[in-house]
Amino acid sequence: MLSFWEKNTFFSKIDVVIVGSGIVGLTAAINLKKYNPGLNVIVLERGFLPWGGSTKNAGFACFGSPSELLNDLQSHTEDEVKQLVEYRYKGLLELRSLLGDDNIGYEPLGNYEVFSDTDDELYAICANKLDYLNTLVKDIVGKDNVYLPADADIEKNGLGNTSHLILNTAEGQIDTGLMIKNLLGLAQSLGVFTLNGFLVDRIEDSSSGYYIVGDGGKVSFNASKVIIANNAFAARLFPDIDIKPARAQVLITQPVDGLILKGAFHADKGYYYFRNVGNRILFGGGRNLDFGAEETFSDGLTTIVQNRLDEMLKSIIAPYTNVVVDHRWSGFMAMGTKKSYILERRQPGLVLAVRCGGMGVAIGSLTGKQAAELIQEEF
Ligand SMILES: Cc1cc2nc3c(=O)[nH]c(=O)nc-3n(C[C@H](O)[C@H](O)[C@H](O)COP(=O)(O)OP(=O)(O)OC[C@H]3O[C@@H](n4cnc5c(N)ncnc54)[C@H](O)[C@@H]3O)c2cc1C
Repeated sequence: MLSFWEKNTFFSKIDVVIVGSGIVGLTAAINLKKYNPGLNVIVLERGFLPWGGSTKNAGFACFGSPSELLNDLQSHTEDEVKQLVEYRYKGLLELRSLLGDDNIGYEPLGNYEVFSDTDDELYAICANKLDYLNTLVKDIVGKDNVYLPADADIEKNGLGNTSHLILNTAEGQIDTGLMIKNLLGLAQSLGVFTLNGFLVDRIEDSSSGYYIVGDGGKVSFNASKVIIANNAFAARLFPDIDIKPARAQVLITQPVDGLILKGAFHADKGYYYFRNVGNRILFGGGRNLDFGAEETFSDGLTTIVQNRLDEMLKSIIAPYTNVVVDHRWSGFMAMGTKKSYILERRQPGLVLAVRCGGMGVAIGSLTGKQAAELIQEEF
């Protein structure tokens, strides 16, 4: 049970509770304090660290590969696809300006789409549409020829089993750890209080706003308003939301002597992604090998995915040298029947900002900012 002191000091007169300390939750908190420094904002986080996609991701700062955009154009109008790209691009600019490039380790090294010899048909479609795609994104990115054929870079990066590359010249990569550490630091400097190890069990309506129940029912208190920013886990608080978890598995190698891979790459419609982290290789993906098994809330690694990653690491990514895996982990994304994120006022004083899919680095900070705007309107 909470003591009087604990109750009085930490859990009274709370203006806004934010559930989840990932990119979305922290940027929502930061923006709320910027709009209204007097607000008492607390962030509740189940992990001893932020324990979601925001600390587990691959750090790709991307807004759309050729095959992805062409695929999207089959189910969305051109205007809708432009809006998706614009939101991601603006989101990246937002993150970069919020923290500064040095504080997120931003490197504008470009992002390649990798085509193997079994992807000839897909490559031909993408190559034929490059002019069209360049026109589509030109005004958003503010430059010509964002997408370029880049077959010469296959050898430069030492790739095996690769027939073609297309380079997105306007994408980059970040240091995920640095980003989240600096988001936490900025939030703290603005007076946001983050409580770690606090699992929110449920949220109920109360006469003064919302009643937050957590820690297995042991702690409960009132807050005037709430932002839900716990990504896939929002489905546990509100089972009617269109969200499913999607686990993603990742590995990183030990430092590789003479590593020539530089930049970010993705293959097989984005189901595999790899990049250099200094002179290490980070490599993830393989969810498509068993979608059912990866639709889970459990941390973990599977043999089928890890074996495939090991095999591709040696045959495609660094066939010219011996690589040793240093570390493996998994994390969660939130997916739905639609690709778009969810940002909505579910009821007065309760905003959902969830389901950033595999694009949270790009869109998370803008989604958090917009969630803050929705709540701020109500004060
Ligand atoms: C392996 C992997 C690689 C990825 N690579 C990229 C990439 O390269 N580029 C890109 O743009 N995106 C990538 N993503 C996606 C991106 O990381 C996510 O979209 C983004 O981090 C989501 O941010 P968020 O703040 O919405 O959620 P999260 O970062 O998941 O934060 C939600 C937080 O809520 C907490 N929480 C959950 N339930 C509760 C509860 N009941 N009470 C209290 N706290 C709770 C969690 O512990 C977590 O810290 C990747 C994701 C993964 C898993």
